[in-house]
Amino acid sequence: MNEATRLSVLIKNQALALGFDLVGISPAESHYGEADLFEQWLGWGYAGEMNYLERGLSKRKEVERVLPGARSIVSCAVNYNTENPRSTEASGGGWISRYAWGDDYHDVMGKMLGELADYITGLCPEEAGVRAYVDTGPVLEKVHASRSGVGWVGKNTCLINQRVGSWLFLGEVITDVELDYDSEVEDRCGTCTRCIDACPTDAIVEPYVLDARKCISYLTIELKGKIPIELREGVENNVFGCDVCQDVCPWNREALFTLKKSFAPREKLLSPDFKWLMELDGDGFREVFRKSPVKRAKHRGFMRNVLVAVGNSGNKEYIEYVRGLLGEDEPVIRAHAVWAPWRLEGGDCLAELEHLLETETDEEVLEEIRYAVDSARN
Ligand code: SF4
Ligand code: SF4
Repeated sequence: MNEATRLSVLIKNQALALGFDLVGISPAESHYGEADLFEQWLGWGYAGEMNYLERGLSKRKEVERVLPGARSIVSCAVNYNTENPRSTEASGGGWISRYAWGDDYHDVMGKMLGELADYITGLCPEEAGVRAYVDTGPVLEKVHASRSGVGWVGKNTCLINQRVGSWLFLGEVITDVELDYDSEVEDRCGTCTRCIDACPTDAIVEPYVLDARKCISYLTIELKGKIPIELREGVENNVFGCDVCQDVCPWNREALFTLKKSFAPREKLLSPDFKWLMELDGDGFREVFRKSPVKRAKHRGFMRNVLVAVGNSGNKEYIEYVRGLLGEDEPVIRAHAVWAPWRLEGGDCLAELEHLLETETDEEVLEEIRYAVDSARN
């Protein structure tokens, strides 16, 4: 066994011992064709307001810029699937994306990857250069994972493993140590188009191409301002992220379950009750979502999402709760608290909307009221 093979075996065994479900290794290349496609995708404007993707482009193109002398990328994945219903099976309440039911994966995976990076450093006689990333780094994560044989990138743009499914958190350790490399696995999407057909907002504009600006995950997590009116209906009951294109994927039909308790749903987060969600004030939100990925949306973004989902619920019982949010300080919450009753009651809330026109001072909210008034009159 040569040295690269010996080290690769040790590193993979260690990754599995640390709790990763999948691990593969690919060579660090000087140029990735996928990076050109990614740049083209940015050029089409499909990244919306995610400007940080453009800022990290040169590093994404060249791993060498992330770690000088980089030779190998150890791609790791953790399965977060739990034995709970899918979004397509649940009824009533909102929907929080499966990945956000438990603890923040950045914390969980970051610790594991840090330990793997330390292991690689300790393993090599001369000090090894290492960089570990979970999602946040300027790295073409899915490309490296697919080159490492961890899975293939499906038409829904998620990484899919034939055995485990696609409920995977990805991370990687880039190192200047030479290792043995795995082969890519073949794309097994075949003629299937389930994810494309099921997407509520037609965000998968062609196989393997996502217009993030239409994707519910982007709208409810990344977007900071108002959700465009024409897309709100498509958001359905999603209050943070969306699972539809993974829930319908045949490769998730028999997806394995994780043994990690940290990804199990926290109390009340599975199909959360809308009344409970609407009563969460800033402190309540921070308490419930402490060390959870949901905190990324912040209270104002989360309540915005809740109001859109409540508006889509068709349940007029929620209106009194929505009214309680019309007095919020954040204009983005008030704006959506205007839209929700209009969506639930139509013309029946016209008098109330006209009154709001006289009392509201924020232009963003006023714009929303004028739209609702015009629509309610017609
Ligand atoms: Fe469509 Fe939801 Fe998948 Fe986004 S996450 S592409 S909105 S199904
Ligand atoms: Fe591929 Fe079908 Fe899964 Fe979409 S639903 S990712 S097309 S296998």
